[in-house]
Amino acid sequence: GEIIQLPDLDASSVKITKTTTPKKPLAPSKLVFGKTFTDHMLTINWNSANGWANPEIKPYAPLELDPSSTVFHYAFTLFEGMKAYRQEDGTVRLFRPDMNMARMNRSASRIALPNFDGEELTELIKKLVVLDSEWIPKEKGYSLYIRPTLIGTQTALGVGPSSDAMLFVICSPVGPYYASGFKPVQLLATTKFVRAAPGGTGGYKLGANYAPGVVPQAEAAKEGYSQNLWLLGDEHALTEVGTMNLFVAFKQPDGTVELVTPPLDDVVLPGVTRDSALQLARDHAKGDKIPGLPEKLIVSERKLIMKDLVEAEKNGTLVEVFGTGTAAIVSAVDKIGYEGRDIQIPTGSEGLGSIAKGLLDRIIGIQTGEIEHPWSVIA
Ligand code: PMP
Repeated sequence: GEIIQLPDLDASSVKITKTTTPKKPLAPSKLVFGKTFTDHMLTINWNSANGWANPEIKPYAPLELDPSSTVFHYAFTLFEGMKAYRQEDGTVRLFRPDMNMARMNRSASRIALPNFDGEELTELIKKLVVLDSEWIPKEKGYSLYIRPTLIGTQTALGVGPSSDAMLFVICSPVGPYYASGFKPVQLLATTKFVRAAPGGTGGYKLGANYAPGVVPQAEAAKEGYSQNLWLLGDEHALTEVGTMNLFVAFKQPDGTVELVTPPLDDVVLPGVTRDSALQLARDHAKGDKIPGLPEKLIVSERKLIMKDLVEAEKNGTLVEVFGTGTAAIVSAVDKIGYEGRDIQIPTGSEGLGSIAKGLLDRIIGIQTGEIEHPWSVIA
C-alpha cells in the first residue's frame, strides 16, 4: 500500500501562551540544583495515527495524565540533560544541542517511542530559553539546566509500543557546582550491584536506568563514599561513576601520560561531556594545546579493569581519576574503596588534577562563549 508520511515536529507551528502571573526569579545564591523551575514549559503530543501535533509553549503547570498511562506502569520515559548560558550582553547559548537530540532519538527508539526532527526540537528549546532568559543568572558559573523528557501516554495496561506519547521540556536555573572550591568525590567500587549489562539499556538515557541506582548510592553513602563506581563482569571492568563517565590517567615509563576512558558499548552512556573531553584532549595531543594537559599525551578508549588501577597505585603511575557529566562538567576522584581497602588517587593542591582542570576550563570557556567554538550555539 501507499506509505503515508505522518507530520514530524514543526517548530514554526508553535503556539505560545505567556504566563499572566510571572514569578520572580529566586536570588542566585538561593538556588538548589533542580528545585526551581522557570515560568514556561514546552509540550508536544504525538500519536501513532496523526504523528506530532503542534507544539505549545505555555505557563509551567502540572500535567494531567490518565492513571493507566504507560509511563506509570512500564517506565516508558526517557530524558536529556543540557545547559544554556547567558552572557553579559544577554546572549543565550546552548552547548552541542545536536548531541542531546541524537541521543534522545536513540533512547526513544530503544523503548519504541517516536523519533522526531532534532533540529526542530532545538529551535523550540531556543524559543523557550529565550522567553525565560531572565531566569538565567548572568553571574559566572550559573546556567539554565534544560530537561527534555519523552513519555508514553497510551491509556491501556498492555505491555507493547505506546500509541500515544508526550514530549515536554522544563528548565531549572542552577548555580555553580563548585561554589566553595573543588570537592573530590569518593567512590565505592561495588561488586554487589550492576548498573547495566551487555544487551541491556545502560547506553540509553532511560528513566528505568536511574531509580535502581538510588539504593546502591545510599549504601555507598552509609560506608562513607559519595558515589558508586560501576563495575562489570568477573574481571571487574570499570564502566561509569555514579551518573558520570569515567576517565583515568596513567603515567608511562617515558613520561607520556595515557588518558583512558572505557569504550562506548551498551553498558556506557555516550556522554556529551565525555565526547567533548575526548575531542579536546585529542586536539591537544595534535598540537592545539590546552594549559594543564601533559606535553606528551595519548588518548585511549579501551577496556579498564580494577587490577589496572590497583597496580598503577602500587607503581605510582596513577595520575588522575575523574568523572564527566553535564551537571559538574568534571569531578575529581580522590579515593576508591575496593575489596576492603581504599585506593588513593592524587588530586593536586586545588582538589582537581591538572588534566581535569585544564579540560574543565576549556569546556566552560566554550560553553559561555568566551572561547569561540562551533559547539556553542546561540539561541
Ligand atoms: N553517565 C550517566 C549514567 C549519566 O546519567 C550521565 C548524565 N547524562 C552521564 C554519564 C554524562 O553524560 P553527559 O556528559 O551527556 O551529561
